[in-house]
Amino acid sequence: MLSIKALQFDGSSKLVNYYTAPHECPFCHNSVTPKTFQAFLKGNALEIVYGCPNSNCGRIFLAQFNRGTSGASFAYQSSSIGTFVEVEFSDTLKNLSSNFIEIFNQASKAESLNLHHIAGIGFRKALEFLIKDYLIAKNPEKEINIKKKFLGKCIKDDIENINVREMGERATWLGNDETHYVRKWEDKDIKDLKLLIKVTTHWIEMELLTEQYKKDMI
Ligand SMILES: [Zn+2]
Repeated sequence: MLSIKALQFDGSSKLVNYYTAPHECPFCHNSVTPKTFQAFLKGNALEIVYGCPNSNCGRIFLAQFNRGTSGASFAYQSSSIGTFVEVEFSDTLKNLSSNFIEIFNQASKAESLNLHHIAGIGFRKALEFLIKDYLIAKNPEKEINIKKKFLGKCIKDDIENINVREMGERATWLGNDETHYVRKWEDKDIKDLKLLIKVTTHWIEMELLTEQYKKDMI
């Protein structure tokens, strides 16, 4: 638990508690422990001005905190909208599914604008294109069937590589949480979903590269 003296609207100060500072600079996207400059309190809204400690960046940003019930500690909500950097993917993935890359980056952009609900749905859609394009590349004769089938069923029935299947399945569970009314995996969030998609892409890449070199160098 952290505490800070916050300046109030009437000019007085009040000591308030909050759980954590933001962990990422919205401009350079490094993991940081930001410099804390000044806090402002208005009702149930706490705003803190931070500085990025990275000397190549050094940008100032504002973070919003709020509290559910009066008197409780403040929880971090979001930071200023910073710069959006597209995620780079390997040529193997670019060749496999340009749609996956496009949708993934649109979801990342929504996330950078603090549109978390839209981002979650976007990552789920990106995952579907990744898995289905992977399966179609491996089984072109099943293309029509794969396109029609539910993603979960494709993963269960059609993925032979156990690592792709296990990670893809878990990514789908979290992805579906982003689209449904009730969340099943309450201790997991969009960060876990992104990480699981990343792990899935790595297993797919390793498999495709292994196959390619085995074919090229007999
Ligand atoms: Zn920075």
